[in-house]
Amino acid sequence: MPHSQTIDLEQERLLILKEYRHLLKAIKPQLQKGDKQMIRNAFDLALESHKDMRRKSGEPYILHPLAVAQIVAGEMGLGPTSVACALLHDVVEDTEITLEDIKREFGSGVAKIVDGLTKIAGVFDLTSSEQAENFRKLLLTLTDDVRVILIKIADRLHNMRTLDSMPRNKQLKISSETSYLYAPLAHRLGLYAIKSELEDLSMKYTETEAYRLIAQKLNESKRERTRYINEFIRPIKERLDKEFTNYQIYGRPKSIHSIWNKMKTKEVDFEQVYDLFAIRVLLNPEPETEKSDCWKVYSIVTDIYRPNPSRLRDWLSTPKTNGYEALHTTVMGPKGKWVEVQVRTERMDEIAEKGYAAHWKYKEGEGTADGALDDWLNRIREVLQNQDSNALDFINDFKLNLFQDEIYVFTPKGQLKMLPNGSTTLDFAFDIHSDIGVTCIGAKVNHKLVPLSHKLNNGDQVEIITSKKQKPNEDWLNFVLTGKAKAKIKSALKEEKRKVAADGKELVLRKFRHQKLELNPKLLDDIVAYFKLQSVQDFYYNVATKKITPKQLGDLQFLGNKLILPKEEKQEAKQPSVEETIKNTLKKNAELLIFGDNLDKIDYKFANCCNPIPGDDVFGFVTISDGIKIHKTNCPNAVQLMSNYGYRIIKTKWNKDHAIAFLTELKLSGIDDVGVMNKITNIISSELKINMRSLSIESKDGIFEGVITVFVEDTDQLDKLIMRLKGIDGILSISRQ
Ligand code: MN
Repeated sequence: MPHSQTIDLEQERLLILKEYRHLLKAIKPQLQKGDKQMIRNAFDLALESHKDMRRKSGEPYILHPLAVAQIVAGEMGLGPTSVACALLHDVVEDTEITLEDIKREFGSGVAKIVDGLTKIAGVFDLTSSEQAENFRKLLLTLTDDVRVILIKIADRLHNMRTLDSMPRNKQLKISSETSYLYAPLAHRLGLYAIKSELEDLSMKYTETEAYRLIAQKLNESKRERTRYINEFIRPIKERLDKEFTNYQIYGRPKSIHSIWNKMKTKEVDFEQVYDLFAIRVLLNPEPETEKSDCWKVYSIVTDIYRPNPSRLRDWLSTPKTNGYEALHTTVMGPKGKWVEVQVRTERMDEIAEKGYAAHWKYKEGEGTADGALDDWLNRIREVLQNQDSNALDFINDFKLNLFQDEIYVFTPKGQLKMLPNGSTTLDFAFDIHSDIGVTCIGAKVNHKLVPLSHKLNNGDQVEIITSKKQKPNEDWLNFVLTGKAKAKIKSALKEEKRKVAADGKELVLRKFRHQKLELNPKLLDDIVAYFKLQSVQDFYYNVATKKITPKQLGDLQFLGNKLILPKEEKQEAKQPSVEETIKNTLKKNAELLIFGDNLDKIDYKFANCCNPIPGDDVFGFVTISDGIKIHKTNCPNAVQLMSNYGYRIIKTKWNKDHAIAFLTELKLSGIDDVGVMNKITNIISSELKINMRSLSIESKDGIFEGVITVFVEDTDQLDKLIMRLKGIDGILSISRQ
């Protein structure tokens, strides 16, 4: 009987106990007097209050908080308080237990963190703007107590690890949020191992095919890789043995997601990705010789293999803002392969793996890295405090700031400032002070005069030039990168707009008084709607700036105190709202949309950004005014759409009958040879009988590159075509646009 309905409660009890002991073992080294009892109490309370709940997979709910606590203790290295909070993280949200109960039992410290976790629990189940607002709250708690966000990330990691039991649309939504927000956040907090796992897991669901393929190829090439790594390491080992008594050297595979990224950005096949792994040397020196020992290893490695000077990264002298410290170099290994070598100490390694949490342990005696993190948190706090900014814009600005690498620049007095890579003189000005930012007219970089938009480089010395007459304008938003500068410019622009609008209001009032009209809110709303504007303030602003001309204003007709709409405006159909569109769509097809079938019934279009064809993994997105758009699930825009507008996503799949053809582009390159062109067109038109719309080829120095546009029926046919074309001698690469 493989599918027994009865649940073995005794077996479950034992499993729960086993997981609990496992947790205690992980946290044991950190336990102090009373901690064990606190954790026991938290466990008992969680066990009791979740006792009738089960997860989607059918397992007892308590296994989830236990697993989250295990991640918090074992993978992040956090302490007993965080473990208790992790055990309790879903209690207030999902059960009868109140925050007051938690406070009475565990004190205000634990209660505060659980409160933070509860507040941000539903962040993503809301409409986009509510969601954005909640994300802002989430980040506010981050600056309050970073443990809230760390536990939240642990929660998400466990949910991702157990995502298999969720329905497909939930998998897509949760995975997208994960790669959109949680992975960058984990990265920024220095949780490298967790960040990679989150990215890999997310890719597993959003780009299943590519994930599977790379995993398989990695597996197939494992033996060969191990052999190469051993060959590479051997001579280094001989030298290290003489110099160090306590060290480790090993090869580390890179994550599937990072390999995939390489393949996409460099447009190469798996076989051409050279850094499938990195070599890591781990030292365990006395604190005084940390830096010199790392450089000693560098010297040994580069005695044996030639380094690429442009790939030397010294994060020993200046750690990254998330605290990362290490020495990276890339050298030419055997068989002409570039190999990355990472040198770090065990202390640095713990910081690299466990991120911010590990910092707390090393706080004494190590000032720099913590200072940098504090800087970063301060910067977030400043952006957050700017209540004016639209929450969605804020997330996008903030996200930009998550993944950036930093550059280091200097003030005229030699003070070091850290800015995201790509920052301009204007970012620098705002970083110093917002008053300097809004009055900035240019700068001297290394004593040379440059404009506001000048991009700064590592090591630049920057002197800002200001003028009292300067005012921010819209363009500025295009050449600042930092969230702080953006937020300050936006609020300055808003202030400016308010002033202009006040003038506009005067004009309008004068005109209406003239016509003996009373300017009531209802009438104003009608006028705003008539001009298709967002707000009354916009109306005043447009009047003041003459975007609404005096003639247009004079043309308005009134009856009594009502606006009479000109005829054609009156008849224009109202745009249906998102909800109406969804409802209408669902009415037409109650369950789900099947493309290729019922073609006439449903109003849909294919998104231009990714041009899906039958066979692609797709989803439907309800647009506001353009019906349903079909995107590929790996479309570059998909992640943002799915995480911001999850409620507008419609599950879609292809119907098997498809007689229509889809236009798609193939990019190819190869060695220029008279016969090649003929062979290509032969395969397309004569052999496979595929319709070709255009073919453009450019040839240079014996290499040609070209784009073919063909009509295909589905991915099967396209794959066949690509396979056949790849088989031609002289074709170097071929890929779908
Ligand atoms: Mn949870």
